[in-house]
Amino acid sequence: MKNNISKELYLRSVKKIPGGVNSPARACSAVKTDPIFFEKGRGVYLFDVDGNQYIDFVCSWGPLILGHCNKKIQDAITKALNMGSSFGAPTRLEIEMAELVIDMVPSIEKVRMVNSGTEATMSAIRLARGYTKKDKVIKFTGCYHGHVDSLLVEAGSAIATLSIPGSPGIPNDFAKNTYSLPYNDIDAVELTLKNNDNIACIIVEPVAGNMGCVLPTPGFLKGLRELCDKYNALLIFDEVITGFRLSRGGAQERFRIMPDLTCLGKIIGGGLPVGAYGGKAEIMSMIAPDGPVYQAGTLSGNPLAMAAGLATLKELNKKGVYENLETSADYFFNGLKKLAEDKGIEHVINHIGGMGTFFFTSGSVDNFDEAKKSNTEMFGAFFRELALNGLYFPPSQFESIMISTIHDRKIMDKALNIAEKIFHDFKKT
Ligand code: PLP
Repeated sequence: MKNNISKELYLRSVKKIPGGVNSPARACSAVKTDPIFFEKGRGVYLFDVDGNQYIDFVCSWGPLILGHCNKKIQDAITKALNMGSSFGAPTRLEIEMAELVIDMVPSIEKVRMVNSGTEATMSAIRLARGYTKKDKVIKFTGCYHGHVDSLLVEAGSAIATLSIPGSPGIPNDFAKNTYSLPYNDIDAVELTLKNNDNIACIIVEPVAGNMGCVLPTPGFLKGLRELCDKYNALLIFDEVITGFRLSRGGAQERFRIMPDLTCLGKIIGGGLPVGAYGGKAEIMSMIAPDGPVYQAGTLSGNPLAMAAGLATLKELNKKGVYENLETSADYFFNGLKKLAEDKGIEHVINHIGGMGTFFFTSGSVDNFDEAKKSNTEMFGAFFRELALNGLYFPPSQFESIMISTIHDRKIMDKALNIAEKIFHDFKKT
């Protein structure tokens, strides 16, 4: 593997861009290596600037569920571009997007488009506070909801790989409005709600993707729904990762639990910057200009982004797509499990739909404390060896592998052969 050009670009980049990257998760510091600079993607493959080829298990952190350079998405973007890139006024594409989202996601009756997942969660929290006239928020330790001030308290994703529990720059006056509780601990939620009558909402990743993949234990999501009803708080599902990934209607369809508000991102933009939040019409009508809760965006509903997102959702809406995705993902994760067992590598694999994580630990991983018991040194070595052998995994133990609809059995076998060789070498050392 050559990496001279990538290295040169990195050295040039760190001089001008903090850490050389425009988002910390890309830095690769958690796996003790430099970031790889990429040149292009095609199908399931990524190609770096040095000409190395990788099977991509990151898929741009989720959005590229149809793989790289999908023809239908490219054609849709080109068609939209030929009509003009932005009007700052309503277009037909925005209505089509709203209608399709409402058709696919069970709990959404009205939806507002924004430009990122962070904007979606920030706006949903503001709406929950405006609607309930209460201030405080319950979130779960290790869940990540974007870099919203009140949601960075004990968050997951890249911030989990740093040694700080939150972020400087967030006044205590903000942070004190957030309770961060252990994921899957319904008793802690009940106790907090019982002792505090000022809680506006609970925001949760219905399947966590940002402490690695952690599934809700049976009854957890149902318990949250019941407690929100009992204590007059809103339930917000952050489906920025799980939306259109776990099923056509996301985690809420899969687990049959209806939140009051849903945050979307990643897949809904088909690789362009998009987010959305939606929910019950009665709650959504509190948003400006219908209601007093203000939220706006110069490029919200941008035609190129709507075209890319619509093309993606239309493909995902076809029969059999999620069954095939699940079959491929199961094949891969079960294969990985068998290899690790055969080679005596301590592990826990959590997976569902087209996402999952290989934790270098034993027992179970149902919350962030358990995820943190993983051997991150070993994960780092695993990442580096995978990359050397042509496989690109998320560069942190606390992220999720993403699978696209075109990761077929042949690709999975290729990936499993590489993993087998690495586990074999691990066993020898
Ligand atoms: N919510 C979840 C569950 C996420 O995983 C992310 C990003 O990874 C966000 C929100 C923030 O989205 P964005 O990075 O588009 O702002």
